[in-house]
Amino acid sequence: MPLYDQQPLYIYNSLSAKKELFKSVAPGLVGMYVCGPTVYNKVHLGNCRTFISFDLVFRYLQHLGYKVRYVRNITDAGHLENDAEEGEDRIAKKARLEELEPMEIVQKYTVNFHDILREFNNHPPSIEPTATGHIVEQIEIIKNIIEKGLAYESNGSVYFDVMKYNESEHYGILSGRKIEDLIANTRELSGQSEKKNPQDFALWKKAEPQHIMRWPSPWGVGFPGWHLECTAMSTKYLGDNFDIHGGGMDLKFPHHECEIAQGVATTGKEPVNYWMHANMLTLNGKKMAKSTGNNILPEEIFTGNSPHLSKAYAPSVARFFMLQAHYRSILDFSDEALQAAEKGFDRLMEAIEALDKLPTNATSDFQVSEWKQKCYDAMNDDFNSPILIAQLFEAVKHINAIKSGKEQITLEDKQELIDSINAFTFDVLGLKTKTQTKANNGDEKTPSLVNMLINLRAEARANKDFATSDKIRNQLMEMGVELKDGPDGTSFVIK
Ligand SMILES: [Zn+2]
Repeated sequence: MPLYDQQPLYIYNSLSAKKELFKSVAPGLVGMYVCGPTVYNKVHLGNCRTFISFDLVFRYLQHLGYKVRYVRNITDAGHLENDAEEGEDRIAKKARLEELEPMEIVQKYTVNFHDILREFNNHPPSIEPTATGHIVEQIEIIKNIIEKGLAYESNGSVYFDVMKYNESEHYGILSGRKIEDLIANTRELSGQSEKKNPQDFALWKKAEPQHIMRWPSPWGVGFPGWHLECTAMSTKYLGDNFDIHGGGMDLKFPHHECEIAQGVATTGKEPVNYWMHANMLTLNGKKMAKSTGNNILPEEIFTGNSPHLSKAYAPSVARFFMLQAHYRSILDFSDEALQAAEKGFDRLMEAIEALDKLPTNATSDFQVSEWKQKCYDAMNDDFNSPILIAQLFEAVKHINAIKSGKEQITLEDKQELIDSINAFTFDVLGLKTKTQTKANNGDEKTPSLVNMLINLRAEARANKDFATSDKIRNQLMEMGVELKDGPDGTSFVIK
C-alpha cells in the first residue's frame, strides 16, 4: 500500500476556506501549478518564501509516493506595471532602463532566480514554461472564449466580459469579492473606455508603436494579458482540471480569479481542485519595500552585507527559519529571529550527527513509531512545518538524553529514528548541513584543488608535455581561474 494511502493529507483550500482531504484526480499522480516570477528584477525574498513553501509541498507529496508533475512558469511578457493593466510591460521597461534587449533582461533575471533558489535547496519544477513560448496557445484560448460569447474585441484588444460570465457563473468565487463592489471600486483609467465594463480584463492588448514585445494575432499586432498565460500553460501541461494551484496571497485577486473565469469559460470545468496561497514576509515588522530601504535581498543574507544584519547566514538556516512558520501565516524577518533560528538549526544538526554513535540497549525510553506518526500528522495537517520542527526537537531531546546515558534506545528503534529524522529533515524540509552547503559551494576546497592542478601542470611542463600544461591553464581560465607564472612559481586569481 503506497504511503499516500496510509497518510491522509488535508489541504487548506482557499476556494472553500476549509481544510479538505486531498484526493488527486488520477490515483498516484499529482498535477501542481505555481505562478512563477516576472523576471525583470532580482528575486524578492518574499517570493523566495512562496517558492520554498511550494517546494515543501512538492517534496512532501513526493515523499508520500506521489508522482508529481510540478509546473512553474516564467513570466517574460505581458505583465504590466500595475494591476489595472496600465503602464509599460515590466520587462520592456527594465530593458529600456538597463539598455538591454527584453530577452537579455529575461535571461539575466531568470539565471539569478535559479541561482538563488538552488542556494535555498529548492528542487527545480518538472516543467518551467515561458509566456512568450506559449503565444499560440494563448491565442487559441482567446478564440475559444470569443466563440463562447464571453469575450469581445475592441480597438485591437480583446477583453473578457465579466458581467456576461457572471450571469451564469460566479466571478469572485475565490476572492469572495462581489461584482457590485468591484463596479463601485473601479476607478476609470485611461484606455478603459474600450471596455464594456470597467471590471472586464484584457486577454489580448493592442501594441502601441513603442511597445517592443509584440506578436501578430487575428486582432492585430499585440501581446497577451498577464492572467491568460497561466491558464494556457497550466491546462496545456496538466489538463483542463488539475489538482493544486499555488501562488502568493497577493495573486488571489485579480490574477487567480481571472484564471478561474478563463478556465471555466474555455472548458466549462473548474480548472483547479485545491487552491493554495502562501502568506507574505515582513522585515522588522514592516512591509518590505525598496523605496523605504526596508528591504533585503536573498544574497545579502548569505553574505551578511546588509544594514539589517549583524552577520551572514547559511541558506539552509534562512530556509529553516522560514519553515518554522506555517506557510499561511505572515512571517517577520529580523536579525534576532535568524540568530535564534541558527541556534536551533545547529542543535538539530548536532543531534543528527550524533545519531550513528548512539549506544543501544534492550529497551527504549523513546517511542519512535509514535513519534514518527506525529511527524506525519503535522505534515498531513496542511503541511504544518512548525509542528513538524517541534517534533524534530522532541527527538533531539531524547537523542541528547540517550547520549548522556539518561535514556535508552533499542537498535531497531535507533534505525527507525535515523531513517525518519533524515527523511523529514533533509528530504521533506529540504535542509542541508552546513558542511553539505560548503562542499556544494566548493569555496573552502577550491584553493587546494587549484593548487593540485598547478602541480600537475608543473609536472607536465617538466616532462615537456606542453599540450597538457596548456590544456590545464586554458580550461581553468574558462572557469574564471587565471594562473600567473612568476619567479616564485605559479599563483592564481579567481575572477
Ligand atoms: Zn499565474
